[in-house]
Amino acid sequence: MTWRATVLTLFPEMFPGPLGHSLAGRARAGGLWSLETVDLRDFATDRHRSVDDTPFGGGAGMVLRAEIADAALASVDDGPPDGRPMLALTPRGQPFTQADAASLAAGPGAILLCGRYEGIDQRVIEARGLREVSIGDYVLSGGELAAMVLLDAAIRLRAGVMGAADSAEEESFSAGLLEYPHYTRPAEWRGRRVPEVLLSGNHAAIAAWRRAQAEAVTRARRPDLWARRARQEHPA
Ligand code: SAM
Repeated sequence: MTWRATVLTLFPEMFPGPLGHSLAGRARAGGLWSLETVDLRDFATDRHRSVDDTPFGGGAGMVLRAEIADAALASVDDGPPDGRPMLALTPRGQPFTQADAASLAAGPGAILLCGRYEGIDQRVIEARGLREVSIGDYVLSGGELAAMVLLDAAIRLRAGVMGAADSAEEESFSAGLLEYPHYTRPAEWRGRRVPEVLLSGNHAAIAAWRRAQAEAVTRARRPDLWARRARQEHPA
């Protein structure tokens, strides 16, 4: 079944953008996933096609109006049995993880609402039960890049998108660890030799070395991931 992505945005012309290239682009051309954009401005009702208004309580910026987002969502919300998750991109959301990407990839697709300006009227997020998702602790100008990040992370996990069946299994985050380092030919470059074990042909020794490297880099760079993994392995 084709995995379906629908993106609600004020800038539909930004898509497919990077998703039109490489793995995602080939997969879309091959019918493994489909992309539909919905222009939020098409749901404006005044002659200026306005979609936003000033925030109650004062402050800078503008807010995407609830009735605009609601009408746009109503136009694409298939409801069950399709049951695609509806997500709102926002820095206030739950951080998006590799586990979320895998769960999205396992489903029928996704409906993604991109904010601009100050954000989206909270009432439509609540009324439509949108899941609020963030791609990281920084603020982008709009949700479009965030939507592309989610889609790219999910699509590459769909069957038939990546070449080697096991490439996703060894990647960063898949076992709660960052990945070990990679090297390719030549075996020596500017006086730097590839770790000897990788040239040994001893698969058990290579696996053990990679595991140790993954653990060391995770402990050094991501104490949060390391602690989470320790909790999972040794629950209190
Ligand atoms: N006023 C908002 C705040 O401080 O949380 C920031 C709004 S931002 C300028 C405009 C839009 O960009 C947001 O509505 C959201 O759709 C998107 N956006 C910005 N940063 C994001 C992030 N880290 N993750 C997901 N979406 C983001």
